[in-house]
Amino acid sequence: MIPFVDLRAQYLSIKDEVDAAIQNILNTTQFTLGSEVAAFEEEFAAYSGADIGVGVNTGTSALHLALLAAGVGPGDEVITVPFTFVASVAAIHYTGARPVLVDIDPVTYTMDPAAIEAAITPRTKAIVPVHLYGHPADMAPIMTVARKHGLVVIEDACQAHGAEYDGRRAGSLADMGCFSFYPGKNLGAYGEGGMVTTNDPEFARTVRMLRDWGAEKKYHHVLKGYNMRLEGMQGAILRVKLKYLDRWTENRRAAADRYGKLLPQAGIAAPAARANVRHVYHIYAIRTANRAQLQTALQARGVSTGIHYPFPVHLLPAYADLGYGAGDFPHSEKAAAEELSLPMYPELTADAQEEVVAALADLYPQMNPVRAADLVTQ
Ligand SMILES: *Cc1c(COP(=O)(O)O)cnc(C)c1O
Repeated sequence: MIPFVDLRAQYLSIKDEVDAAIQNILNTTQFTLGSEVAAFEEEFAAYSGADIGVGVNTGTSALHLALLAAGVGPGDEVITVPFTFVASVAAIHYTGARPVLVDIDPVTYTMDPAAIEAAITPRTKAIVPVHLYGHPADMAPIMTVARKHGLVVIEDACQAHGAEYDGRRAGSLADMGCFSFYPGKNLGAYGEGGMVTTNDPEFARTVRMLRDWGAEKKYHHVLKGYNMRLEGMQGAILRVKLKYLDRWTENRRAAADRYGKLLPQAGIAAPAARANVRHVYHIYAIRTANRAQLQTALQARGVSTGIHYPFPVHLLPAYADLGYGAGDFPHSEKAAAEELSLPMYPELTADAQEEVVAALADLYPQMNPVRAADLVTQ
C-alpha cells in the first residue's frame, strides 16, 4: 500500500531529537509560549525572510489575527479565492468583514491578479492571496494593485513553507504572512500550530497581544483578545523539524521532478510551476475528467490519493449566504471537479512513484475519454 502521506516515517527519522525536545518541555514546564516558542519564532521568521514571527495556535488563528491587526472588521470587505481550504474564507468571516471572491488562474491554481480590480469597492480593506499546494500566488501584480488602492496584503502561506517567488520566501512577500503547522503541512507540529510573519513591528505587536488575551503586560488587557497561544511542546518540536525542512523540501521537489518525467510518458499532464517560483509541492495535483472512478480504482491497486478540494468555498452550504452560485468562478469549479492529489511526502521512494504511475498508466486512459492535452493544465 502506498499511503498519501506518511507522518510516522518522518517521526522515526528524527525520533531521538524530538523525544529529547519533548522531555525538555516536561522538565522546564514551559507548556505554553516560553523560550522554545520564542526561539522558534525567531528561527522561522529568519527562515521565511521576515523580521518578526509571532507564534499562534493554528494557521486559521494566524489569518484571523493578521486580519484584525490590519484593522479589518465589520463593514469591510476582504478579497480572496474560492479554491482554497475553507479556513482562508472563515478567518475573514470571523472578523465580521465580508469575504469577496475572485477566480483563480487555472494553471497555478492561485489568485488571478487580473480579476482583482473589478472586485475592489470603497469598503475593500485587504487581499488574501493563497499559495495553494505550495506554489506562490503571482505576488508582483497583486502588490501593484493593492498599493494603488491602499490595501493590506496578507499571504495565506499555510501550504507554502520555504516557497519562493522571484527569489524571496513566502511570508516576506506582502504585509504579513500566515503559516499553519498542522501535522500534515510541509512543516508540521505534533498537534496544532501557526505563525504570523511580518516586517512591521506594529502589526507584530498587535498580533502578539491578541493571541494572549489582548494583554500588554500580565492582566493589563489593552485589546479584546483571545487565547491563541502556541504551545511550548509544539515550539520545541518545530525547532527540531525546521532544521530538516530544506532537505525535506528538496526531497519533495525531486519527487515532483520524477513524477514530471513519468506522467507525460503515461499520457498524463504534470502540474506546471512558473519559472520565477520555487514550488514546495505540499500537494502534487493532477487532473482527471473521471475522478471518483479513478480514485477508487487506484485505491484497489494500492495507491492512496486525496482531493484538495472537492468543493469551491462559494458552493459550500456554510457560505451560501455570500450569495454566489454555480458558474460564478468557472476555473475554481472545474479544478474542484477534476483535481486529484498523488502521494507526496519527503520519504516517498522512486519505486513507489513508479508504482503510482504504472497504476495510472493502466487506469487513466480508459477513464479519461478527453485527451490529457485537452485538460487545462499547461
Ligand atoms: C491548513 C490551512 C489553513 C488553516 O490552518 P490550520 O492550522 O489548520 O488552522 C488555512 N489556509 C490554508 C490554505 C491551509 O491549507
